[in-house]
Amino acid sequence: MIWLSDGLYEVSLALLPIQFFLAAFYFHRRYPPLKESRYFAAVIVLNVCLALAGIFFESQVLCIANYLCLLVSLCMYFGTQNPERFLEQRTGMFNRHAFECVMRENRSRRYWLVSCCLRNYGDVRELYGACQMDRCLGLIGDWLQGEFPQLPKFYLRNGRFVLLSFQSFDQEKAAAKISQRFQESWQDGEAEMFVGIGCAFMDSSVCLSSVEDILDVLELAHRQQDAAVLPTQAPVRVDGQFVDGLHHEIAVKRALERAVATDAVSVFFQPIVDAHTQRVVGAEALARIYDEELGFLSPTEFIPIAEKTGSITQLGMQVFRKVCAFMSDPRNQSLDLDWVNINLSPIQCMNPHLATEFIAIKDRYGVPARKLHLEITEESFINLNTLQDQISRMRKEGFNFVLDDYGSGYSNLMMVRQIPFINIKLDMGFVRAHFQQPNTLLPDTIRAFLELGFSITAEGVETADMALALDKMETTYLQGFHYARPMPMEDFHQYMMMRNQQENADCTSLAESV
Ligand code: C2E
Ligand code: MG
Ligand code: MG
Repeated sequence: MIWLSDGLYEVSLALLPIQFFLAAFYFHRRYPPLKESRYFAAVIVLNVCLALAGIFFESQVLCIANYLCLLVSLCMYFGTQNPERFLEQRTGMFNRHAFECVMRENRSRRYWLVSCCLRNYGDVRELYGACQMDRCLGLIGDWLQGEFPQLPKFYLRNGRFVLLSFQSFDQEKAAAKISQRFQESWQDGEAEMFVGIGCAFMDSSVCLSSVEDILDVLELAHRQQDAAVLPTQAPVRVDGQFVDGLHHEIAVKRALERAVATDAVSVFFQPIVDAHTQRVVGAEALARIYDEELGFLSPTEFIPIAEKTGSITQLGMQVFRKVCAFMSDPRNQSLDLDWVNINLSPIQCMNPHLATEFIAIKDRYGVPARKLHLEITEESFINLNTLQDQISRMRKEGFNFVLDDYGSGYSNLMMVRQIPFINIKLDMGFVRAHFQQPNTLLPDTIRAFLELGFSITAEGVETADMALALDKMETTYLQGFHYARPMPMEDFHQYMMMRNQQENADCTSLAESV
């Protein structure tokens, strides 16, 4: 045999181990159920068949075809088939990218899915520390692999994982089993970790058109579970009825994305009044988004979404820029407004470029920094070093800082001293509680802050009686529906003009009567 002496036979034999290695790799690797995986399998099978047939039939053509096929499978192995692309290291599950690819590729197929979310993941991660939490994720991944070996499992970040199948399985039972397991602790050496879980399950009968919609609906289902006070909860069935109830939330998310992208976030102003003189001294800027169908959306709806999706930075910049534009407009400079308060999200406070960006914007509009008060809440203290660094840079420029919503959450007096605030805003709930059941807490808190040198703003002032009582307690400023609801900037301009005219008229008549 001439061709055998040419060495093709030996080469084919020598290459056989590589082909078996590729076959073994195919069966042992973790790879999501994607078409490219099936193509790879087909090429490997073809490869082995060509190799064996080439040797058996002593065919030069088959051997050469085998080499070409091997070349293709090696290219696939080093190119598309790297399992790292789709693996999440801590849990050993597939990652979000894999989930998106699988769902997109199988758009028209029927699927069954169980989604689980660690409850209050951010807080729990903070509490246990990142290393320990990552080990806990590893334990959860191992347990799921042991319990549901046949199902592809995905870890979508932030404590969310998904079990997916294109064949029917008892999702309710699987979800109940997972919920049951989370009643027990996760043991890592000496460390024992308790983590809550919320489970939801759905199938393709829900008719969601895109992967984004599926993820949105599941996220909202979990967010509802997170908001519930009960420590344990039955898994949620995500069916057509449930999705109908979520259409509003999904519409809010879409409206937010649109508004941020098109610079269409509106800013409303609510006046802040000097408790003693009743003069409007300042205003709070409050973001609004207008949607054709839903009308004006409340920030309590879209700010948490913007924080989760990361668009809060852009949204916050828009609000800041629009306030600066208002303040620099010559028409508004005559309004005799001492300052405008702007809310900062804790996420914005983690941005190490915040000071640089704000300073550049206010310089561009030529607004004095002392006219801009930045409101932050206690959640911003999480990253205290960055916060203090940014604040000290902005303080040097003349910006002032206000602590918002004091009396909600875990407020304490010590915390207040870590940042050079000039004003403390008492949370509406804290103020209202006093008027529902009066005791000394509110007046004592006000006195303590005044003694520490802070001015005080009471939020949620809805009646003249409240305004009077708060003035008696020596509250410095008042804000609430009793004076005015938040209004568009143009309306605020009119409102201020009217108030100023009225004040002037009052002064004139007072002077005349004297
Ligand atoms: P906040 O900063 O505590 O703002 C005060 C909220 O109380 C506003 O709600 C205001 O409309 C409402 N309010 C004022 N007076 C009264 C009253 O007498 N009675 C009642 N029932 N409510 C009153 P709004 O505009 O819905 O804003 C809610 C929260 O959304 C704000 O609470 C703030 O935390 C956040 N927010 C608003 N705009 C922005 C923004 O531009 N950026 C960020 N990061 N957060 C914002
Ligand atoms: Mg505020
Ligand atoms: Mg507030």
